[in-house]
Amino acid sequence: MLANEPALMPIAGCTDVYVGLHFGTMPQQRFLDLWNLKELRGISVKDDVLRIGALTTYTEIIASKLVQKRLPMLVAAAREVGGAQIQNRGTLGGNVANASPAGDTLPVLVAANARIVLRSQAGTRTVPVEKFYTGYRQSVRKPGELITAIEIPRIDGKQWWRKVGTRRAQAISKIMMGAVRGKEVRIGIGSVAATVVLAPRTAAVLSGGGTIADAQAALRREIAPIDDIRSTGAYRAQVAANLLAEFWRKTE
Ligand SMILES: Cc1cc2nc3c(=O)[nH]c(=O)nc-3n(C[C@H](O)[C@H](O)[C@H](O)COP(=O)(O)OP(=O)(O)OC[C@H]3O[C@@H](n4cnc5c(N)ncnc54)[C@H](O)[C@@H]3O)c2cc1C
Repeated sequence: MLANEPALMPIAGCTDVYVGLHFGTMPQQRFLDLWNLKELRGISVKDDVLRIGALTTYTEIIASKLVQKRLPMLVAAAREVGGAQIQNRGTLGGNVANASPAGDTLPVLVAANARIVLRSQAGTRTVPVEKFYTGYRQSVRKPGELITAIEIPRIDGKQWWRKVGTRRAQAISKIMMGAVRGKEVRIGIGSVAATVVLAPRTAAVLSGGGTIADAQAALRREIAPIDDIRSTGAYRAQVAANLLAEFWRKTE
């Protein structure tokens, strides 16, 4: 159906799409409901790779023993998405496809070196999450493609996640960080640019035994957050530096 009618808009939990419909800002008029596609559900491990179906909800992620064991920072992020209603309907694939820099799971996926699995009539392709986003709310996903799953290789090291919003729960993020401290350090940050970002130069300072002050200075050079309705660039830069220090302290 998508191949025949590229203007069709797929909907999963519809939590993002509904907001656009409600405000009348959605140009699409025809929708393709994915909710009953069981092929896009399920959480499994194969060849040491965690595979989370695109239609997996936050509630399912939180309850999953496999995700708790292999990707606890995703469980932590899922717990802070919206309220119970949004967690019951909102999906991981929807968060990825929506391509908002404030998508809470995206820093986790970047830090985890995740891959996005896309499928169309032409076949299946897999894109590293770092290469998936091309700009504000834009990605390499073509109109005829569905996200079928997200794959996460084994992570060696401690995982850490924190979201900072206007209040403790039910707030869109001002900034969030997902990070891994192992042989390799990987730091994903949301809401500091048009897309989620990886901070490799900051991570290199920490992996190389640099001080946290050096790493914070590198981070300030590496990100250039903007002012918007939710926060200011200066606040985000300061909080990002604070989060970096907290990540390092808590994963000692
Ligand atoms: C009250 C409220 C609170 C929220 N709080 C948060 C929050 O705290 N953190 C956060 O990150 N988000 C939050 N959101 C946003 C939203 O809930 C999430 O982004 C959610 O993961 C979207 O998933 P969904 O399945 O509902 O996507 P949908 O609304 O169904 O779709 C979103 C977009 O993704 C596309 N899409 C969906 N699935 C696929 C697929 N498999 N393949 C290709 N394209 C697809 C759709 O075409 C659409 O463009 C909130 C939303 C609301 C309404």
